[in-house]
Amino acid sequence: MTNFNYDKVKHGLDREVLVNQMKNQMSDFRFTHCLRVEQVSRDLAVKYGADVDKAGLAGLLHDYAKERSDKEFIDEIKSKHLDPELLNYNNAIWHGIVGAEIIKDELGIADEDVLNAIRRHTVGSTNMTQVDKCVFVADFIEPKRDFPGIEAARKYADKSLDSAVAYELKHSIAHLVDKNREIYPATFDSYNYWISKGEL
Ligand code: FE
Ligand code: FE
Repeated sequence: MTNFNYDKVKHGLDREVLVNQMKNQMSDFRFTHCLRVEQVSRDLAVKYGADVDKAGLAGLLHDYAKERSDKEFIDEIKSKHLDPELLNYNNAIWHGIVGAEIIKDELGIADEDVLNAIRRHTVGSTNMTQVDKCVFVADFIEPKRDFPGIEAARKYADKSLDSAVAYELKHSIAHLVDKNREIYPATFDSYNYWISKGEL
């Protein structure tokens, strides 16, 4: 059992309440993934000197909205006046960028470092903080992940956070191209930036 809490990020925030709220509105598959990402994100934050509680909370919540309907995301993009370009994409992009708005409203999380890490976990950014990187990488390498390249991803994560980010972006873009899927422009920007920063 975990004994950490997120009171420092938001006063009065009870992790157990949050965890129960998550468990009740998402599949067990997704819920357990979120718990694993929380743990790995915390571990990376300890290793690389990021804010452990912000990295953990963002890791815990990163896929909070992933199982919501397309309609809910579309309504949210319109009512919050988010970039209308988002309407051309889908759940894969929305659950981070738009999901952060849902998390803000439903869970009362106002910490922008946490929200940004959630926003950026699907597309990266040229501007990633250490907390953003911990969540981004943890999502990719949590213990149940299994795909060609996972060992390299874990090795990079052990060596340098920037390399792990670069590897993940490269791997994700290659995968999307291979599947004939569209790529959100910010993902290319992130790739171009991090491929020159992280040594692969
Ligand atoms: Fe996600
Ligand atoms: Fe995830």
